[in-house]
This record gives sequence, structure tokens and C-alpha cells, in this order.
Amino acid sequence: NTWKPPHKEFSGFLRVRGAREHNLKNIDLEIPRDALVVFTGVSGSGKSSLAFGTLYAEAQRRYLESVSPYARRLFHQMSVPEVDEITGLPPAVALQQQRGLATTRSSVGSVTTLSNLIRMLYSRAGDYPAGQPHLEAEAFSPNTPAGACPSCHGLGRIYEVTERSMVPDDSLTIRERAVAAWPVAWHGQNLRDILITLGYDVDRPWRDLPKKDRDWILFTEEQPVVPVYPGFSHEEVKRAIRQNVAPAYKGTFSGAKKYVLHNFSNTESAAMKKRLQQFMESAECPLCQGKRLRRESLSVKFAGMDIGEISRLPLHKLSVLMQPFADGTALRGKRQQAHPERELVAQRIAADLVGRLEVLLELGLGYLLLERSTPTLSPGELQRLRLATQVRSNLFGVVYVLDEPSAGLHPADTEALLSALEKLKAAGNSLFVVEHDLDVIQHADWLVDVGPDAGEYGGHILYSGPPPGLAAIADSKTAQYLFATKVPPPHQPRTPAGWLELTGVTRNNLHQLDAAFPLGCLTTVTGISGSGKSSLVSQVLIELASTHLGMELTAEAEEGEGLEHTAPVTLGGRITGGMEHIKRLVQVDQKPIGRTPRSNLATYTGLFDQVRKRFAETKTAKARRYDAGRFSFNVAKGRCETCQGEGFVMVELLFLPSVYAPCPTCHGARYNAKTLEITCNGKNIAEVLEMTVDTAYEFFADDPKIHRSLTVLREVGLGYLRLGQPATQLSGGEAQRIKLATELQRIGRGDTLYILDEPTTGLHPSDTEKLVTQLDSLVEAGNTVIVVEHEMRVVAASDWVIDIGPGAGEAGGKIVATGTPATVAKATRSRTAPYLAKFLE
Ligand code: ADP
Ligand code: ADP
Ligand code: ZN
Ligand code: ZN
Repeated sequence: NTWKPPHKEFSGFLRVRGAREHNLKNIDLEIPRDALVVFTGVSGSGKSSLAFGTLYAEAQRRYLESVSPYARRLFHQMSVPEVDEITGLPPAVALQQQRGLATTRSSVGSVTTLSNLIRMLYSRAGDYPAGQPHLEAEAFSPNTPAGACPSCHGLGRIYEVTERSMVPDDSLTIRERAVAAWPVAWHGQNLRDILITLGYDVDRPWRDLPKKDRDWILFTEEQPVVPVYPGFSHEEVKRAIRQNVAPAYKGTFSGAKKYVLHNFSNTESAAMKKRLQQFMESAECPLCQGKRLRRESLSVKFAGMDIGEISRLPLHKLSVLMQPFADGTALRGKRQQAHPERELVAQRIAADLVGRLEVLLELGLGYLLLERSTPTLSPGELQRLRLATQVRSNLFGVVYVLDEPSAGLHPADTEALLSALEKLKAAGNSLFVVEHDLDVIQHADWLVDVGPDAGEYGGHILYSGPPPGLAAIADSKTAQYLFATKVPPPHQPRTPAGWLELTGVTRNNLHQLDAAFPLGCLTTVTGISGSGKSSLVSQVLIELASTHLGMELTAEAEEGEGLEHTAPVTLGGRITGGMEHIKRLVQVDQKPIGRTPRSNLATYTGLFDQVRKRFAETKTAKARRYDAGRFSFNVAKGRCETCQGEGFVMVELLFLPSVYAPCPTCHGARYNAKTLEITCNGKNIAEVLEMTVDTAYEFFADDPKIHRSLTVLREVGLGYLRLGQPATQLSGGEAQRIKLATELQRIGRGDTLYILDEPTTGLHPSDTEKLVTQLDSLVEAGNTVIVVEHEMRVVAASDWVIDIGPGAGEAGGKIVATGTPATVAKATRSRTAPYLAKFLE
């Protein structure tokens, strides 16, 4: 082991007494300051509850006490932690990985603050056309009125609705929904009925209608209000009006264009935006060529480029460009003599830029462009961007709390991460890191190992001290991997049952790439961060395969991604073979299984349907004619009406975020008293939802169907979860394993393509071993599994490897090596090979 004692004695300790957040067992603990402290333990053991839920939450609470109640509302406030006392706690900054929080308008340039510097550079040291006055820095931002292109309002793209975009199939009649852009369901029928009253022919194919009628229906600004007689023909309507028959109601017409544009700019729903977007045509703004700025702003140049061009350089090229300005070697000739002060400004700003870029390049992010929007970044990339920004912030005396900074990093990139952490520490800060990666754990000054297991079976501190001491802790799963270097048993690669072939894939940094994935095998796709793994697997393969299967990609997948930056999809590529063996596509990701407390593991897996059936079959339930629906907390009959089955009610507080309190009627049970009178083997439905999977496994031993679901949940390591634990409280790793369990219980079809992108994120090496076993069972049943992965334990256990690279961004995007793990481990150009080889010895 490579542990070196810290270069200095610890300068002080922070002390925790009586921590009880979530599953923590009233723990006491001492942790050094000004050190790299790594929190380890199996997934669900309580690491985050300690590092984020207790230490960070308490630091934030103390800070917020000092700010005005109004300002407090602006924070994403954590709840007050369950802890008796914490002393010696410095102010904390959390660099947590969160999906979808960044706003659409934020970009790599804005989160790193590099854009501010570049705008300043253009404003103060740019080359202006003769006679043009100098512009303020904000004139170089598309998000200000002073900078935004007047044609596209700073979006870079313009959107139009046309007959073709709103009526994709003109052989349909209006009744057959020719105007696809119109709303579905009732409102759509309403518009159709209004057209009938108005005398338009809704049963003639769209293309046979007169142009005048088509234009009016799509583009009119008029909004006539007419009587509506649902189900009547136009003749019948006329007769009804003559005879003074009262209409069902009066309906207001709205042209399709008006409907699309109005709702597009007013809806809050990402799914609605996504739906409407299909009916719009978008094109690069011709005025600014997609650069989003006014002409005057774009006329200012630096190093011969306008600010839009410079924002499209990968960061490593930007750094090369700025270097000569920073060190003063750039020759700017005559100008230099004319405006020496401007040259000085240029040098100062360029030097600052180069310094900031250096950290970003070290962290392996040199392939990103300033203008790249943050919602398209992976959570790991975003966290490293924020980390790099902190390294240059010159703060000291704070504690940075990070979760899994190694997520998304190839082992070759981990060194750079450690050096960035080292810099923050050297500047006088403390680092609290939740991490599973053994390389990072080995570099800790201090380890806090939480366990021994997950949930109720975890929450104890097994060890807190310098890493070598962990070796003596028999109960620690971390110790087994950190010291014994458990090498997995050799794996005999399977023979492919055929090939899923992709040809001419063009997307992001992939250009005309051909790739083949073996069917009936476990394939891992490897390569350094930014090499193109996700572009190939999670973007192109998923889109092509789902289109092939006629599946619609869910809007949920794109949630939070507004329209403004959705770059034109340069989708090139076809599936040229193998799809005949695939009937289903399943993406097993770490996204929540539901966004409200109304979903939980029992509802998601279908287990709850069986349980409710059991309750409906009891004697009392039958006597009272209670059906299975009665036992759902989402249905009016059986649930508590005070809280509508939520179990808690929201209390609005003036000036403070709303808080949730247990429901005063059912006290959290979610059901009404009558429903709770029904018991099955002595327990009511609320008590069953309170059970852990392990307890329920004993309790339902007599019911094969329920037992089957519970068995797989235990096999994926979720025995500790409560059946009714709300989806909102589950970690990404837990959500992913619930999805896997749901698949494993319907196993045996053999015709499914499973795709996973970095499934080991948040998983302890012992959990990773379990994951491999489960993926293996999916393959054993004849399915095909494709995994994007950095964890060599998984790669070594796969049947086939596709290594992408050799570098990141435009320096990557090629298949460097492909074959069995043993073959790829010997490939000379592959950066993965040496790391993989270690796991095959
Ligand atoms: P780790 O970080 O070690 O993976 P966590 O601290 O996230 O573990 O979780 C520890 C336990 O607390 C788990 O059983 C988890 O389900 C539970 N838990 C996590 N978040 C919440 C929450 N918001 N409310 C209740 N329980 C939670
Ligand atoms: P990996 O999965 O290997 O880390 P990615 O496929 O995410 O790599 O990225 C490959 C290249 O494509 C990088 O240069 C990255 O910045 C770019 N890229 C990835 N996704 C997007 C996107 N949604 N928009 C623009 N560029 C992207
Ligand atoms: Zn424009
Ligand atoms: Zn209630």
C-alpha cells in the first residue's frame, strides 16, 4: 500500500457527538481539519448521511442563521441534522453531484467564470474597427439586452412553425389528427368540433383541402367563439342552430401556430416543451450565425477572432492561444506602441485565464468548449468544473465536501484529480470526500469507514484514523479490498450469438465510426473521459435501437434540458444487422424511480399489486367488499383524505421554506381508519409498507409470487430498504438496483438489450461484485448487456471490450482496441490496457 504519512501534524480536530441522521446510530467521531478525509463503506451504509446530511448541513445551518430570512429562501436548504453537538466545524462548501439543477442558460464558460474574463478581455483589450467606441463587458454577453442579437434574442437559433412541421402527414384527415401539433384528448376534439360548426371538411385528407382553408386553420390570429354540438355533422349543426337547440357549450378556436407558440413560451413543463418542439422547425440565426450576439459586439476581435469563435474552441486550444499573451511574447506590433496600457490589460487577463485553464486541463476537461451548456454535461464533469473553479478561488479555512469526484474518470485521469485536491488542501482547506475508488482512498490522510452494511444494518463507525489502521478491522468490507487486493476469479469469455452492427456513426466527436457489439454477451465500452463512450452508447445506440423498435424516447430523459441550447443533432449512422434478435431495449440508469413520495420500491417493482391482492382476499375485506384498489394510497376509497395518502402535510412558513409535518389524522399511515382495520397475518397495510425487504421476506414466506420479487431484491443487496420508503429518499445506486431487480424478476425472455452508463457510480467494490453477478444472470438468460464503464473489475469480468480513444474530444472518437479483455489488455495504443492487465493477472 502506498500510504504516506501527512507532511504535517493535523492542525486541529472537529468533534461530532450523537449523530443520528437517517440510519446513523448515535455516533461520536473525531476528524482532523486541513486534511484529506475519505468516507468509505458499502452503498447505503450512511456515508452521505454523515458527510452531507450531518457535517455539511450543520455548517450550512450555522451560516444561514447569519443571513436575512429573505436571503435564506434563495438557498437550497438542507434539513436541520439530527445531531447533539459538533465543535470545531469550519464553514463548508458542498460540491455535490446533482443532476438537472443547473439552469439551461449556464454554460462551461459561466460556471467556471471564464466567460467573465473573456468578456473583459474583449471589452478592454479587443481590436475595434476604426471609429467604433469601446463596449462594456456586458455587451459581449448574449444574456443581456446590451449584447443579445436582436433577431434571435440571444438564443442563436430561430424557431418557426410551418405547414410541414405542424402537419407531418398530409394524407390524414383532420378527424384523423392531421394537425399533429394540436393538443391530444379533449381539447383536440374540441378544436375539431369547432371546425365542424364553422363548416370545414374534417373528413377530407388534408392535402385535398383548399389552400385558403389550410392557411386559416393553421395560421389565423382570429379566435372565433362558436356553439359546439359534439358528434354532429355540419348539416346537423346548422339544423340545430335553426331549431334553437342549445349547444353543449361554446368553444373558442385557436389556430395551430398560435397554439404552439403560445404554449411553447408559457408552459413550465419540460415534457410539453419537448412535445411542441417537434412541431417547430429550427435554424441557425442568419443574423448572428448562431453566435447569439449583436453585430457591433461581433466586430470586436482578439487574436483575429470574434468572441463567438473563441467560445467554440476546446479549452486546451484556448490555453495555447492565450499563452503568448500571458507571457508577453505575442507580437502585436504597431498597436503595442499605440496602446501600451491595453497590452498590459491583455497580459493580466490572459495570465489569469491561462492559470484557470491549467487546472481544468489537468482535470482532463480540455476537450470542453466554453459555450457547451451545462445540462449536456455529466454530473461528474460538472463537479470537476466546479472543483477547478474552487482551486483558483483563493479561499482558505473552509471544508469542501465532495461525493465521488472520481465518477466518470478513467483510472488514467485520477492522478490529476488527486493533485487538484492536494492543491486545495495545501491552500489551508479541509476536504471531506465520499469515495469508492481505491486509488483515492489510498491517498487519504484519514479514513472514516461506515458500516458494516447498508440501511438499518449500517450507520456505525467501524474505523476513524489513518488508513493503515483499517487493516485490523475485521468487519470492514473496505479493508478487504484495500489491503487484500481481491482479484476476481478468471472469467471465460462467452462466444457471441451474433453481432449488433452500427455503421457510419456521426455524433459529437464520432465521425463515420463503425462498431459491432456481440449479442448474448456482456460488453464493456471503455476509454478516458470525453473519448466518446456515451456519445456512442447512451446517445446514438439508444436512439437508433429505440427507433428500430418503434419505441418513443421518453421526455423524462431530457428533463431540465430546455430548448435554447439543444444543438442540432447531427445524427448519422444506421444499424446494419442484429436487430432481428432484439425485441426490447431497457436502459438501467441511476435516475429516480419516481419524482414524488407516491412511488416507492413496492409500487415500482409491481410487488405492491400482489400485496394489495392479498389484503383484498382476506375474509373481512371480502365481507366489506373492499377490492385491491382500496389498499392503494393513491386511490380515494382507502386513503386518508386529510393528506390524500401522502402521510404528511405541507406547512407554509412565512419567509422560510415550507416544511412537511406528519398528517394530523393518520399520523403518517397514509390510509383511513376503516382500511387499517383489515389485517393480513396480523399486520395492516401500513405496517406492511413499514417492513424492510428482509422482514417482508419472512412474513410472506407462504406466497410464491411476492416471495419471488423479494428474493431478487435481496439478491441485489436491497434487503435493508423499507417497502414504502419514498422514491425521493433513495440514492441513485438504490434506484438503479431496484430497476435491475425489476428486470431480473421477469428474466427468461432472452431478447432484451440492456444499456447501462457507469453503473458502478456510488458502489463500493463489494457492491460492484454483486452488480457483475446480476449482469451475468441477464446475459446467462440470453440477453445482451452493454455497459459504459471505468471500473476495471467490471471490464475484466466482461466478454468483450470496445476501447475508445485515444484521447478526449476531437483527439478521441476512434475505436483503439476491441476484443476479449485479454486481447485489449495487450493492445499497445490503448490507455485502458495497463489498468485492465492488472485485473487479469
Ligand atoms: P451512503 O452514502 O453510504 O450510500 P446514505 O447516507 O445515502 O448512504 O444512506 C444511508 C441510509 O439512509 C440508507 O438506508 C438510505 O436509504 C437512508 N436515507 C438516505 N436518504 C434518506 C432520506 N432523505 N430520508 C430517509 N432515509 C434516507
Ligand atoms: P465519454 O462518454 O467517453 O466521457 P462523451 O461521449 O460524453 O465522452 O463525449 C465525447 C465528446 O463529445 C466530448 O468532446 C464531449 O464534449 C462531446 N459531447 C458529448 N455530449 C455532448 C452534447 N450533448 N453536446 C455537445 N457535445 C457533446
Ligand atoms: Zn441571432
Ligand atoms: Zn393522513
